[in-house]
Amino acid sequence: MDTTQFLKKTIDGVTQIEPALTPPSIATAQTGFVKKPKLGAGSSKTRKREIPEGLWTKCPSCESMIFDKELDENLKVCPKCQHHFPIGSRERVHSLVETCTFEEMDAQMTSVDILKFAAYKSKLDRDRKATTLKDAVITGVGKIGAHRVALGVMDFSFMGGSMGSVVGEKLTRLIERGTEGNWPVIIISTSGGARMQEGCISLMQMAKTSGALAYHAQRRLPYVSVLTNNSYGGVMASYAALGDLILAEPEAMIGFAGPRVIKDTTHAELPPGFQTSEFLLEHGLIDSIVPRKDLKERLVKYLDFFAAGSRYRAA
Ligand SMILES: [Zn+2]
Repeated sequence: MDTTQFLKKTIDGVTQIEPALTPPSIATAQTGFVKKPKLGAGSSKTRKREIPEGLWTKCPSCESMIFDKELDENLKVCPKCQHHFPIGSRERVHSLVETCTFEEMDAQMTSVDILKFAAYKSKLDRDRKATTLKDAVITGVGKIGAHRVALGVMDFSFMGGSMGSVVGEKLTRLIERGTEGNWPVIIISTSGGARMQEGCISLMQMAKTSGALAYHAQRRLPYVSVLTNNSYGGVMASYAALGDLILAEPEAMIGFAGPRVIKDTTHAELPPGFQTSEFLLEHGLIDSIVPRKDLKERLVKYLDFFAAGSRYRAA
């Protein structure tokens, strides 16, 4: 028998005798107990495959799985930890205005690739197809409570909400419409900044929108800017920061340049929570942090207040 054979081995001059079969180590030893199949073992992969994709979303903050329908009904806010997911501009408009009161403006306006920037046209086509939007903002006039307002809502899913000639032009026309109609302007921003593919033409939008807001302010009409997660760059350096009231969603990242760029430039440690809405509320840039589900109610309250003391009257 194999097990009765022995090998001779010399270690430090002393002859050792070892059995031909080394006993298995404890870690690999297969006892009857370990061999016993675990409950559900082997079937977890199959079970995973059975869940259709797109029905559940994992919350990046609390890691709980949320049923997509529940997430949609909760305006894309995690019901467990209140993490605010990005929300599309159409859903946002729908959540704010009274039913059937929103008249969209310039819905067909589209960007032109004037600089022949590499891959710009294909990126525009890709995002038009993916989002069914023409560009990164929806503008129009609608009613919020009893108030007719000029409302602009940006969408991060279209080229990172970047501000090119179309975003700037649509918002400028919106602000001018608000000025003509004696209406408040509300702009909900989310943006990575100016659209580099349109070069200085995108930078000119900063002056254009700010100028239109100055004329709006001359008429003593209210402008409310709402900042949502990722409000950066040229947008933050122009109309998003010019609100008579500046509101923000909880834990939104807001700034001009990103924290990494600032850290590399200044070689300084940035304070904890730098560029979050909570930090900016504490330091005076933001007037109030409003959770998404409370935004409509709060806007109505503020508009009631503005209407009571100015030439602007509720429609
Ligand atoms: Zn969560």
